[in-house]
Amino acid sequence: MNKIVAIDGPAGSGKGTIASVIADRCHLVNIDTGATYRCLALATLKNNIEITNQKEIIKLCSKIKIDIDAENKVYLNGEEVTEAIRSEDVTKIVSNISSIPEVRNIMVALQRKMAEGKDVIMEGRDITTVVFPNAQYKFYLDADLNERAKRRYKQNQEKGITMSFEDILDNIKKRDYNDMHKKVGALIKAEDAIYIDTTNMTIEQVVLKIIKIIEGD
Ligand code: C5P
Repeated sequence: MNKIVAIDGPAGSGKGTIASVIADRCHLVNIDTGATYRCLALATLKNNIEITNQKEIIKLCSKIKIDIDAENKVYLNGEEVTEAIRSEDVTKIVSNISSIPEVRNIMVALQRKMAEGKDVIMEGRDITTVVFPNAQYKFYLDADLNERAKRRYKQNQEKGITMSFEDILDNIKKRDYNDMHKKVGALIKAEDAIYIDTTNMTIEQVVLKIIKIIEGD
């Protein structure tokens, strides 16, 4: 049976960075499911579709081609969009777009396909509850709101993305609310997921804690 390590948590909880380090050390394929929703958000902007036009967004979702390569580069219809999907414009609308149930059905199917036949570490909002509820290892990462905004601000600065701290804090608050109140695929802690509060932990401490669990048997 393939190994599936599923991680959920809110924006800035550290899941992206941590999944990528663990993937390298434990030889797992890292699948960032947020990138799939971000691709659709970018395509929506590129096609000048209003975010209220759910019908067109669903149509677009069934047409676009999303690929993530072994180095975690992201492609939308063959064009590399790894950086573009992190832009402020995309970040502002992605949560609304990911709330559309039909979009989620398509993305969940795509994410399961991406994992087929591989040992994976997959992170997102509904991995432990919807995409792979039977994963062998399930984690929910969390951190204080302020700490999460600080981390995202630092990350953005390193990547050259300009967004003020206040805007980031506001965006994370709104995304938390949207993500936790979705009709389908809402962010909740699965009953059997291991909860890790990363607020006062270093990346290395969280990585080691998870590796001990997934390599412990
Ligand atoms: O993880 P990231 O912040 O890149 O995700 C962007 C957005 O995509 C989230 O705010 C959430 O609305 C959506 N998402 C989701 N389900 C997932 C992963 C991400 O709804 N599994």
